[in-house]
Amino acid sequence: MSLSATSYSYDLRVLQCPSCGAPITCPWDGGQVACAYCRTVTLVTRRPEAPAWNDGPAPVRAEAHSPEDDEKARIDALSAQLAPGAPQSPYAPESAPADLRTRMSKVTKRAKAFADEQWRTLRAEWHATHACDQARAYWVGGALAADAQAKGDHLGARAALETTLEMVTDEGYRLLLYSRLVRNAAALGDVAAAKAWLGQCNPRPRDVVLETALRSAQAAVLTAERDYVGVLGILGEKHSAPLFPDAIACYEFRVNALEMLGREDAAFEELRNSYVPVGNASVLWWLRIDGLAPKTVARGMVRIRWIRFGLGVFVLAVGAYVLRTCGVFHSKLVRF
Ligand SMILES: [Zn+2]
Repeated sequence: MSLSATSYSYDLRVLQCPSCGAPITCPWDGGQVACAYCRTVTLVTRRPEAPAWNDGPAPVRAEAHSPEDDEKARIDALSAQLAPGAPQSPYAPESAPADLRTRMSKVTKRAKAFADEQWRTLRAEWHATHACDQARAYWVGGALAADAQAKGDHLGARAALETTLEMVTDEGYRLLLYSRLVRNAAALGDVAAAKAWLGQCNPRPRDVVLETALRSAQAAVLTAERDYVGVLGILGEKHSAPLFPDAIACYEFRVNALEMLGREDAAFEELRNSYVPVGNASVLWWLRIDGLAPKTVARGMVRIRWIRFGLGVFVLAVGAYVLRTCGVFHSKLVRF
């Protein structure tokens, strides 16, 4: 646990080796690092300074926080983004480049190979020009980080996220990446690191997808601190606006908080509610990986097994009927 707990340490800079892609680690202000695998020596730069909204309790970024920009107006604007016919957020999964959406939508070896190949191209482009397609870098780097995380390779996931942060300058994609560092650190119980990464996030984003990412990051910290009432305060007791519908993490923390507060039926009901927006199986998958809501997960798995069993019986019954009507069982071709 102690090694895992430092995988997301804020005092460290963890990047991918430019030569072989293995994680390389150095202090946050950079320095020369030799890769433990391929021995390539890399000069790592200092992590960029925290943005202006980290300077004090009252952020004063002119374009994002004008005097009339009160909280209610901001929430109303976020809700309006969810209205039918409203333009889609540039940060929504549906806004990702089309080829990435079709070829990386499933967790398969082929999708992983495609992501690896895309990543090599993006990295080469970035090394040559210090610029690359922001959306592609975010979606490919994020997918590789999720793959590493699902395999328990925490340092690899951290390196993929922080390397993507090095390539991406867009504030929205940066918030999405920081929110994932928060969530991953919190999942490993490293609350100090999670809070430090949370300090990098704009606390008042103007886009509903970014707001959702911020809230799920705040909920992750509160979950690690066992403040379950606080989690429901941030996310609401049921899925509702202005939260973006496709947020698996929001369902995860809400279901867990309800279970931990002893409201097990409400927790299971909320897991069931996730079916239309994100799919029950996705929420169950991440609950299991993050070790949250064990009772609700067990109940969900029993339900899934019964559904699979029922489907199996149905397929067998249909098969037997088809074989019978085709005459395989009572064939007139059979002579005695
Ligand atoms: Zn290397």
